[in-house]
Amino acid sequence: MSDKRDYYEILGVEKNASEDEIKKAYRKLALKHHPDRNEGDKEAEQKFKDAAEAYDVLGDAEKRQKYDQFGHAAFGAGAGQGGFSNMEDIFSAFGDIFGGGFGDIFGGRGRRGPRGPRPGRDLRIVLDLTLEEIDEGVTRTVSLKRYEHCDTCKGSGGEDGSGKTTCQTCGGRGQVQRSQGFFTMASTCPTCRGEGQVIEKPCKSCKGSGKQQEKSDVELRIPAGIEEGVQLRVSGQGDVGDPGAPRGDLYVVVREIEHKMFQRSGPDVMTEVPFSYAQLALGDKVEIPTLRGKVEMTIPPGTQSGKVFRLRDQGLPHMERRGRGDQLVRVFIEVPKKLTDRQKELLREFGEIESSESGNKSFFDKIASYFS
Ligand SMILES: [Zn+2]
Ligand SMILES: [Zn+2]
Repeated sequence: MSDKRDYYEILGVEKNASEDEIKKAYRKLALKHHPDRNEGDKEAEQKFKDAAEAYDVLGDAEKRQKYDQFGHAAFGAGAGQGGFSNMEDIFSAFGDIFGGGFGDIFGGRGRRGPRGPRPGRDLRIVLDLTLEEIDEGVTRTVSLKRYEHCDTCKGSGGEDGSGKTTCQTCGGRGQVQRSQGFFTMASTCPTCRGEGQVIEKPCKSCKGSGKQQEKSDVELRIPAGIEEGVQLRVSGQGDVGDPGAPRGDLYVVVREIEHKMFQRSGPDVMTEVPFSYAQLALGDKVEIPTLRGKVEMTIPPGTQSGKVFRLRDQGLPHMERRGRGDQLVRVFIEVPKKLTDRQKELLREFGEIESSESGNKSFFDKIASYFS
């Protein structure tokens, strides 16, 4: 429970290992360190547990992603046996260590029947959208790799309609047992993974899994005004499940592409617009770009640089109710980098008049009076 080893290191795979590589690595380790083969070997037992824990995380796309992002911290400190987030599995693997000698302390958790067909995995994709697309809502077709039923065996995993036969390793019980001191330990059978049955003649194209990875196109409808980071669940568009079990879901996370003119703040959009000193001092009527074209905005005379104007209903649509947010326009003075001789002349003249009008106040006094 102290400093924990890296899950990838435990399984001996690269950080970018495929699902299949991870599964293979786990199977190999589980078989090697299986209690049945290493009677009384504490070290093997620990390795067996560690591998199960690592696979519990890396074998699950969602947990793996969390782990990649946050490390062990993703699963909390108090998660028990070295952070097993799914206690159910550790009990089903090592449950009888509690049940055997001490009575049923842990309720019915100790023993579990053979596992049923497993549902397909959930998938997760990130979708990059522009503010204009978010404004209107968008329909997108994305291409993703997911598991479908194997074409050859139609998902059964058996060749030419071959059926299932009782697993030789566990004799159909789905669990294997061994004794150690007072205790009897039971763990899920590694050959049939708890099903109690194995396929007689595995299909050659899918090696008995009944599944194959395929590229599929999925049409996504993204509602207008969707917020960044929101997860949309598209039901039943994940990996295919075992026969009789449902497909996983597809989760779509929306990410905004940075806009060169607008910044988003909830349903509002913000923009900064440069003006000349004359425009702000004398007032002006200008056209301001919005997400959906242009609108006219009036700058009253004597507008200070930095003032924010609000253009009603020019923001993004609200997600839960009707209407839109606003567009906030911050005006600022852009000082010209180059001036013509005529401009310089007029500005100097203007500067002279301005200082005589203000009664020859020093620059410091001007600052002070501005704040009073
Ligand atoms: Zn097949
Ligand atoms: Zn078995």
